[in-house]
Amino acid sequence: MPERVVDGLPRAFAELAAELDERDPLAGHRAEFVLPDGVVAYLDGNSLGRPLTVTRDRLTAFVDGEWGERLIRAWDERWMDRPTVVGDLIGRAVLGAAPGQTVVGDSTTVLLYKLVRAAVDARPGRSEIIADTENFPTDRFVLARVAAETGRTVRWIEPDPGTGVQPAEVAELLSDRTALVLLSHVAYKSAYIADLPAITAAARDAGALVLWDLSHSAGVVEVGLDAAGVDLAVGCGYKFLNGGPGAPAFGYVAERLHAEFVQPITGWMGSADPFAMGPDYVPARGIRRFLSGTPPILGMIPVEDMLALIERAGLPAIREKSVLLTEYAVAVADEVLAPLGVVVASPREPRRRGAHVTLEHEAMRSAVEELWRRGIIPDFRPARGLRIGLSPLSTSFAELATALAHLRQILAARVR
Ligand SMILES: *Cc1c(COP(=O)(O)O)cnc(C)c1O
Repeated sequence: MPERVVDGLPRAFAELAAELDERDPLAGHRAEFVLPDGVVAYLDGNSLGRPLTVTRDRLTAFVDGEWGERLIRAWDERWMDRPTVVGDLIGRAVLGAAPGQTVVGDSTTVLLYKLVRAAVDARPGRSEIIADTENFPTDRFVLARVAAETGRTVRWIEPDPGTGVQPAEVAELLSDRTALVLLSHVAYKSAYIADLPAITAAARDAGALVLWDLSHSAGVVEVGLDAAGVDLAVGCGYKFLNGGPGAPAFGYVAERLHAEFVQPITGWMGSADPFAMGPDYVPARGIRRFLSGTPPILGMIPVEDMLALIERAGLPAIREKSVLLTEYAVAVADEVLAPLGVVVASPREPRRRGAHVTLEHEAMRSAVEELWRRGIIPDFRPARGLRIGLSPLSTSFAELATALAHLRQILAARVR
């Protein structure tokens, strides 16, 4: 009985949620998503965004038309350029990147490998890579492998897990031995927003390259890659870009680096003239050289639909709602959940907090299992973290309030 449970939140919080929904200029967009009745609250948009209803129609039209009727002719007519066309859309809508620097294809992991390897190879005299132990597993694993492959040493920062990597921690390790700095913009556990402009500037001053993983920022936190002078970035297509399971990722390489970069997976689709079927690999000009094999055209359709919505809604408005959502979650956690032993493990300063809030409690694993049984879907991150991912375009304040009320009920029942 969700109604009763929401009433279980202090009246002020229930009323505040209703008020925030009423005042929310983006509230209307929620209806553009597929919203099945069985889902009471979805708080995992940072792991897998909800699909848009328009995507259903576009996929059908694609099967019938572009694919079904145009068949292989569609490669010439439309598909060859899709990786850079959609890349440019991502650049414009969410990255603050001028055209010609963003490409779509591969998974985040594979793109990360390609760019890390290319970056290290482009700084042959430098023996070190700077990274942090709180980064997402794939980032740490790929980096360790490239370091082993190329005889580089990783200098690991061990940041405060409740916050994230500080510019001073990077500065301390930067030297003329540094080839590359690899960090996440928004930390996947705490949601800490790293100081991208300051760290980028420091790395470049030291003559190092810098690669930002934008998986938890793209589509929800403004990035400004060109303005900050970022060298390289990668990010995920299925989180706040709502591309669906296995959606292609994106990679950004600043234009000034294209000519000197050789990527390691030298496939035909990234070569200068794929259909010449020539004897030797010659890289394509520009960002296209970072393609390898046949790009996943089908998977780009949902991403394009979400990008159109993001541009309509406007990234600043999305970020504004995101801050209000996380502030609401933190306020309820402080007043209602803290007495039950819940600790906020995300930054308190909105300027330094991305679009999720992590709450810790020793019984969180079983509490999340119970939430899932009730149709309330957040994430669990070991050892004791409940991650509330708040995708502003598809999440209402009432939905969040309902979820928090259920969490309170579950944790309170345990204490009694
Ligand atoms: C989600 C995420 C990834 C995902 O990589 P895949 O190759 O898509 O599985 C990588 N890095 C970070 C920081 C992430 O949050």
